[in-house]
Amino acid sequence: MEAPVTEPARILHGKPYAEAIRAEVAVDVERLKAERGVTPGLAVVLVGEDPASAIYVRSKGEQTLAAGMHSETHRLPAETTQADLEALVGRLNAATNIHGILVQLPLPTHLDSARVIACIDPDKDVDGLTVTSAGRLATGGEGLVPCTPLGCMILLRDALGDLTGKAALVLGRSNLMGKPMAQLLLAADCTVTIAHSRSRDLPSLCREADILVAAVGRPEMVRADWIKPGAVVIDVGINRIPSKDPAKAAEGKTRVVGDVAFAEAAEIAGAITPVPGGVGLLTVACLLKNTLTAAERITGPIAGRA
Ligand code: NAP
Repeated sequence: MEAPVTEPARILHGKPYAEAIRAEVAVDVERLKAERGVTPGLAVVLVGEDPASAIYVRSKGEQTLAAGMHSETHRLPAETTQADLEALVGRLNAATNIHGILVQLPLPTHLDSARVIACIDPDKDVDGLTVTSAGRLATGGEGLVPCTPLGCMILLRDALGDLTGKAALVLGRSNLMGKPMAQLLLAADCTVTIAHSRSRDLPSLCREADILVAAVGRPEMVRADWIKPGAVVIDVGINRIPSKDPAKAAEGKTRVVGDVAFAEAAEIAGAITPVPGGVGLLTVACLLKNTLTAAERITGPIAGRA
């Protein structure tokens, strides 16, 4: 008997999508400036000296400026008090040149991030993390959606077009990723299952899915035999593990992998995102898109979008 012929998976690289979003945003920023005299503004707040956070924040600032927007980065010392941080958020809420506010997480442990996030004006909540934003998303209201799930939806719509009736499984239920992802898929008329660390028989649950979104933070947990042949697999995980080369690993060198065992999964899936180079690249592009959306909602839409 001949072995079944399987097509190799389409690799959904994030770069062209991120470039297209950034280019589209830049054009609309110029239109907003020309039509309304408004420059969308994004304020990013960084507390402390976490090196990874500092890199993310610098990149956000650079990309905001490159899109023609106003960018402000507020760098506060690690010992900043809750009251001072909340007062800064209050000032940014009131600032007319700021349309988006992002507080870089994680915050130092003495600060209560939930209380800080609760202070952000939901109309400027470009990370989509306030209770109001989550409620608007859950009830079909007009709100701002967390950036990474938004990026995942852009990739999924490109890979599949209409998502109506697809069986979608979201692995992970965090407020930042799993829950908003599930809400977006539900809003796109998928039949959605959310799985987590207490779910039973994850491989069987995953094998039912036409769309599998993995956001667990467990290196290469999703194996090829968890995947329905032809499914679209979106890997959100960013996990740092020791280098493959034992000598480099001994020197502490690492590499980044996703939540999906990419090489074997690509033999079964119809389309799959790589890590690195997949959805991670869309996150900042979607942050710019959200800042533009917030600016348009606050100041009025650009012509043709009313
Ligand atoms: P998180 O807050 O730690 O949530 C992880 C979720 O995965 C939880 O719901 C947890 O279940 C579930 N989980 C953990 N271990 C599991 C297991 N063995 N089996 C089944 N479910 C399990 O993480 P997150 O913020 O959602 O992020 C998830 C991953 O995405 C991380 O690798 C993160 O770095 C990455 N990420 C990437 C981007 C990007 O820009 N690409 C953005 C955000 C996050 P319980 O709720 O039961 O504990």
